[in-house]
Amino acid sequence: MKNLFVILFLLTMDYVLLAQGLDIYKRPVTLEPDRDFDAIHYKLKLDIDIDRKQLTGENTVSLTPLRSNLNTITLDAASLVVTDVLDSKGYPISFRQGEDKLHINLSRTYSNTDTVKFTVKYYLAEQVEGLKFIDKTETNQLQVSSDCWPNKARQWIPCYDYPHDKVTQEMIVTVDNDYKVLSNGKLLSITEDQERGKHTYHWKQSKEHATYLINLSIADYTVIEDSLGSLPVNYWVYKRHEQDAKRSFAKTPYMIDFFNTLFGYKYPWEKYDQVVSAHQGGGAEATSATLLGEGAVTNRMEEIDFSFEGIIAHEVAHQWWGDLVTCRSWEHNWINESFATYSDYLYKRYDWGEDEAAFDLLKKKNAYLREAHDRYMRPIVFNRYETPGQNFDSHAYPKGASVLHMLRFVLGDDTFFRVLSQFLHRFEFQAVSTQDFIQCTKDVSGLNMDWFFEQFLFHPGHAVFEISKNWDESTKILALEIKQTQDKWKNVPIYSIPVNIGFYNKDGKTVEKVWLKKNLEKFEFKLDAAPLMVRFDEGNHLLKEWTYPKTEEELLFQMDNDDVPGRLWAIDQLKAFHSSPKTIQKWREHSMNDSFWAVREAAIQNLSEFHTNGSKDSFLQAISDSNSKVRAASIKALGKMKDPSMIGEFRRKYETDDSYLVKAQALIAIGENGNQSELRFLTDAAKVRSPRNVLKNAAEQAIELIRNSNR
Ligand SMILES: [Zn+2]
Repeated sequence: MKNLFVILFLLTMDYVLLAQGLDIYKRPVTLEPDRDFDAIHYKLKLDIDIDRKQLTGENTVSLTPLRSNLNTITLDAASLVVTDVLDSKGYPISFRQGEDKLHINLSRTYSNTDTVKFTVKYYLAEQVEGLKFIDKTETNQLQVSSDCWPNKARQWIPCYDYPHDKVTQEMIVTVDNDYKVLSNGKLLSITEDQERGKHTYHWKQSKEHATYLINLSIADYTVIEDSLGSLPVNYWVYKRHEQDAKRSFAKTPYMIDFFNTLFGYKYPWEKYDQVVSAHQGGGAEATSATLLGEGAVTNRMEEIDFSFEGIIAHEVAHQWWGDLVTCRSWEHNWINESFATYSDYLYKRYDWGEDEAAFDLLKKKNAYLREAHDRYMRPIVFNRYETPGQNFDSHAYPKGASVLHMLRFVLGDDTFFRVLSQFLHRFEFQAVSTQDFIQCTKDVSGLNMDWFFEQFLFHPGHAVFEISKNWDESTKILALEIKQTQDKWKNVPIYSIPVNIGFYNKDGKTVEKVWLKKNLEKFEFKLDAAPLMVRFDEGNHLLKEWTYPKTEEELLFQMDNDDVPGRLWAIDQLKAFHSSPKTIQKWREHSMNDSFWAVREAAIQNLSEFHTNGSKDSFLQAISDSNSKVRAASIKALGKMKDPSMIGEFRRKYETDDSYLVKAQALIAIGENGNQSELRFLTDAAKVRSPRNVLKNAAEQAIELIRNSNR
């Protein structure tokens, strides 16, 4: 947390210059392409030899022309080699392949009342990222795993590969009997061919979706069957994962149920599968068949610090946001990612509680602010990109989620969630633009919300406030001054936005909503007595940076009376009073007693930074904290004390703690305090397998520390 707050508040010229370092406005304008036809259905028949890494196949395409006199069709086809194109009667028609396109000369001209049908026969001549053949290793099974996002379906399927054209699809795949096949939609049949030792899976996606959402996964999976009422919810995992997978995915039906109610739209697909893939790091929200990295399955130790629950919820939410309604071009990708990111926050709030959710939203906001300061600021709706992936950044995910949080604040819960539901019903199975969402918001709310979307979607940046207050005891008036200073950046507007001001006294708090419209706003509040604390943005609705000078007394009060984001802010601000006994005492109290772990962790970090020598008792107490991150912070703090007598304790934590993060921190602490005699122990520790190699990395760092200290 500490580093995040440094970035939050040290807004200097250097950052402004850095922000301009990457000029993304030099990227080319990339528009939604024109098209000649509307693809309707792809019937894919694939013969896949996993051992030889070969694919031969055909795609029977049905489409409707969008103009008259259409006599050539152009499909996307990269890497794959087309051998024949046959018309609907089976007669060959001429074609030409080049520059990642397949041009087909139809035998006559067609108009927009016709349906055109033809079959493309092809094979894969090289290995492609869009459909990866993955060898068996120590950790993963032999498998074939697709990765079609954002435009890689064309590497193994000749098709129209852009999200504004949605299709239904059949995936008929023949493989050796040893392997199972997963795809989108419903499994219609498995046909055995005993002579050849092969079987054929026939999957049908009967509702339209985009080609980047196609999934084909083949391996000797173990399939764990679960359900939500009549909806099948299955987990396709490696055999060795079976027990852990049941636990890791157990909340999936409950998540679907939660989103059903929240979005006011029942889960749209025939089933929900999740499949583990060695080709993924996080997740990919293929329609009704989400791909997840191997890290999604965690054992009881791994799940303490490396749980995939947030990602699992995010991909479930995509089944509505991205799959049911889909950005029609990549400039509108916030409709996929901001909504899924905001949805995973809403799930956490529902399941993990208000404190964890508030902390999650704070992390999301800080992730955006880091990108804004370190890399660039751009409008969320942005058509300058060379590749679609460039738009999948911290503007598309956390910033957009923060904008939705503000929209919810402005509209109120009832209207906000009615907008979401109406939008899904109105545009189900369609490709959508930002304008569609704006129109829907206006229709449902009855409000002209252009001002909101203009400033938050079509301009870069975020609010930077300077807040100051003054209490006049004679008049009992509190004067509050709020400056917006973000117009120092090009194209960043002065915002119109409401904000809640919280007035705290010994009996509780009152909240007043005020509207900010100008770069300087002054408000006066008549109160009964001097408030003990005045909170700006009570409830943390806004995406913002801010400075707000406060006395030590008020910050100490805030530590005991505010919510999690408020306490984390106050604990950081108290660094200005780090030599004051009252502040040190407050940090000590909160390192032990704060109800939220991240505040306890921040308290330990502050004590370690400013008051190491007097705080050993606090660190020793925190070493038994119920939260692994607090324990890790305490071991880090103890390690910095350079006390070789602690090595036994660090070793004990390494051996007995059930958190990999704590074990890793214990190894580093041994490195900071130990001598050559520890090298053998650390060398052994470096061989222990752990998620993201945290133990190996920590042990190597510790060995390095000892070697350097002996130089
Ligand atoms: Zn996503």
